[in-house]
Amino acid sequence: MNILQPWNIVFLIGFVIYYRIRHVFILRTKDEKKEVRRMDGLEKGLLAGMAPGTLLLPVLYLFTPWLAFADYRLPIVVPWIGTVAMIVSLWLFWRSHSDLGQNWSVSLELRENHELVTRGVYRFIRHPMYASIWLWAFAQGMLLQNWLAGWSVAPAFAAMYFMRVPREEQLMCEKFGDQYRTYMRQTGRLWPRWTAGEKA
Ligand code: SAH
Repeated sequence: MNILQPWNIVFLIGFVIYYRIRHVFILRTKDEKKEVRRMDGLEKGLLAGMAPGTLLLPVLYLFTPWLAFADYRLPIVVPWIGTVAMIVSLWLFWRSHSDLGQNWSVSLELRENHELVTRGVYRFIRHPMYASIWLWAFAQGMLLQNWLAGWSVAPAFAAMYFMRVPREEQLMCEKFGDQYRTYMRQTGRLWPRWTAGEKA
């Protein structure tokens, strides 16, 4: 079974930590009352599109021989880079959940008394959680040496990211107005904007 191979064990450990972080924050925010909920067909489709790459295909690859036809081998340096990317991704995933606190949600939502978070990792970039998922998508490709299980998150997340971010920023502008527009001028989406004026 693939699970007995060292890089797959490294991936599985990261995979368990990733879902554990999500689970902890789902429990912490489950009682929050929502003021706005944009769970339309597009949003549901994008979230559902993430399931094969983030869950189903890695599990099939690790625990069954069914995806073996798509296996390949990479130079040893690649899964090492994947391991570092995975550690950074998990750290950023946890930090962004922690900084958003009660304001976090899986889908596009605003809770009652929603607060604009500009502290912690949000001081530098507007989408650290999405940055962490991008990193995760590449780490998965570098660790799981199988075309299907390794590389299926990246296209699904690309669709999610490019559709979600403009809608999310629009929602934040509607809610927070100039406060969010100023924050946008001071931060990058995934990468800090070093040339910005003074920080908030
Ligand atoms: N795009 C962010 C947050 C993802 S979670 C990131 O990648 O880190 C999605 C929810 O977070 C959205 O529904 C929105 O309500 C909320 N959100 C996004 N940015 C926020 C911010 N700076 N402060 C408070 N809430 C925010």
